[in-house]
Amino acid sequence: MVDSIEKIVSLCKRRGFVYPGSEIYGGLANSWDYGPLGVELKNNIKNLWWRRFVHSRDDIVGLDAALMMNSKVWEASGHLKEFSDPLAECQKCHARYRADQVGSACESCGGKKFTEAKQFNLMFKTQLGPVEGNNVYLRPETAQAMFVDFKNVLDTTRKTVPFGIAQIGKAFRNEITPGNFIFRTREFEQMEIEYFIKKENWQDSFEHWRREMLSWLEDIGVDLRHIHELEVPAEERAHYSKRTIDFEFDFPFGRKELYGLAYRTDFDLKNHFAEPPYRDQDGAAKGDPRQGREEFYPHVIEPTWGVDRSLLAVLCSAYDDSDKNRLVLKLKSGLAPYKVAVFPLSANKPDLVNKARSVYKLLTTNYQLLPIAWDDRGNVGKRYYSQDEIGTPYCITVDYQTLEDETVTVRDRDTMKQERVKVEDLESYITAKINNAP
Ligand SMILES: [Zn+2]
Repeated sequence: MVDSIEKIVSLCKRRGFVYPGSEIYGGLANSWDYGPLGVELKNNIKNLWWRRFVHSRDDIVGLDAALMMNSKVWEASGHLKEFSDPLAECQKCHARYRADQVGSACESCGGKKFTEAKQFNLMFKTQLGPVEGNNVYLRPETAQAMFVDFKNVLDTTRKTVPFGIAQIGKAFRNEITPGNFIFRTREFEQMEIEYFIKKENWQDSFEHWRREMLSWLEDIGVDLRHIHELEVPAEERAHYSKRTIDFEFDFPFGRKELYGLAYRTDFDLKNHFAEPPYRDQDGAAKGDPRQGREEFYPHVIEPTWGVDRSLLAVLCSAYDDSDKNRLVLKLKSGLAPYKVAVFPLSANKPDLVNKARSVYKLLTTNYQLLPIAWDDRGNVGKRYYSQDEIGTPYCITVDYQTLEDETVTVRDRDTMKQERVKVEDLESYITAKINNAP
């Protein structure tokens, strides 16, 4: 576990996980770009989530909706009216703050007088086409599309309650005070499920999702001792929510919200559908069409995961500099940007380089092992150090013995132990290791 966010920011910049956005133009406040390793790690998190919650269950289907939606969506959901934070301005230098978070003095000039708080809507407004006043908003959450498309999904998949719709995608909030690296950004990515149930089952479903969220955290290598469940009190919950839990994580800058789980009742579907959008199938299944064929509004349990926050929690959890001689990112092998690295012992011996190239090529035929790193710079010790730092679980070195007996060394990132393995067994050896990793 890392002890300061600066260490993570520095590693991310140095190794190409995350860069400051628009950097050569002086940057753009609070925007970040995921570099070559960052995009691999982020995709691995999203793919794992999709496999776990969509592909491996028959009660959840996926959706990928447009970022821009008809403004009536935000009118119906209440975002146009209510999705705002109180904004206060320093009377001396006009710096703007969230009124509920402002300290006793202005951070930029020390001024002590602020304007009265005004409500500031957090949605980004833009214009659709060339017509003035044809305003649209970038979505401030992915959830609404799952409600708006509810009937389309129902009609095309024949799912029956309980079932869920899952979506991964970007959302935008014009936060007054973003910060803490990629923790709070104005452009961010969410993984969300809207799980539709009958009202009487909400407590069981809520508990199911609470356990699923904890189990997911273990899957991505987050130690549950650093997770705290916060039961959000009624006065702080959204007015439609009957129960909300925040899953907080011990980030190096403090205990902060990582995920959320909410029971949203039938509030959302009622906002969007004048008539109940769902007809019960129970009666028909029992052979009695008069029984239970009522129309109703399903209730909703909503588990929400931040993608960027997941990635940050994964990096903080995996970061291990307890050994003075090396920095290791102890990522789960399924999340590691590279699964394997291949080196020739020396870059100056064509025989070794050619053999190592053929081993590299052999492994690239197995999609599960991709992408594979290649490194022939410096000495083997330096290459190990470099791969440890980005979390590559296995390093393969082709040496002189390889040319004689077709074996290579495989070095384990966490134990630093090396084993000799036959080239022809390499693929199955490493695949088994990755699949059996805890
Ligand atoms: Zn000021």
